[in-house]
Amino acid sequence: MRPYILAETNWDYLKNAKFELAVLPWGATEAHSYHLPYSSDVIESDLIAAESARIAWEKGAKVIVLPTIPFGVNTGQLDIFLDINMNPSTQYAVLNDVVGVLNRQGIHKLLVFNSHGGNDFTSLIRELGLRYPMMFICTTNWYEAVDRNEYFENPGDHADEMETSLMLYLKPDLVLPKEKWGSGKERKNKIKDFTEGWAWAERKWSRISEDTGVGNPEFASKEKGERYFRAVTQKVGNFIFELCKADSENLYE
Ligand SMILES: [Zn+2]
Repeated sequence: MRPYILAETNWDYLKNAKFELAVLPWGATEAHSYHLPYSSDVIESDLIAAESARIAWEKGAKVIVLPTIPFGVNTGQLDIFLDINMNPSTQYAVLNDVVGVLNRQGIHKLLVFNSHGGNDFTSLIRELGLRYPMMFICTTNWYEAVDRNEYFENPGDHADEMETSLMLYLKPDLVLPKEKWGSGKERKNKIKDFTEGWAWAERKWSRISEDTGVGNPEFASKEKGERYFRAVTQKVGNFIFELCKADSENLYE
């Protein structure tokens, strides 16, 4: 039993426990090219949050990782079979209930630990901040924590070299053999302003990718996945430690 994983711990331990920070991992249930499981984002957030929390815990941080929420915003993928969409307004309602419990019980810091590109918690957190002035709520996308170019050759953002490498390391049994891997070829928007990154529109997933992947996974390997996992969890572990020790009333230099 890991005392920093809520799903594993028990009332005998928790009735006298105190925590400084809760971490809420948030994934998605969606197609990940031909070769990765629908739960890829759930597995990644689950295991990256747990290892990061272990690193922080061993340095003395009192952190508790909540169970991973399995559904994300998939509004651009409604025609992809069994991609399960959870609307942003539902996410707000879920967060509101979780934050309500933490606020009442005196855990006044929350990290929403995001694993899925369609989830965007920033505006939800702004609104929750109005409702719960005692709470310090923040979010991170773990896949932006370190520079992926130092670990991977091909760019991408979905079932790509990075994600395939990670899954080869974390859950190799759930990755199909290499001859099944999609090429992750993406059709870009004809209006170049969108690809420059300063204008945004939701991508209609079934029109931009044949296999649902974005980014070629061909150079993926378990070794790359492990190296990247170690770098990300080290960085997130330090972040969790900092959050635990921070005085949220006195955050600025
Ligand atoms: Zn993913």
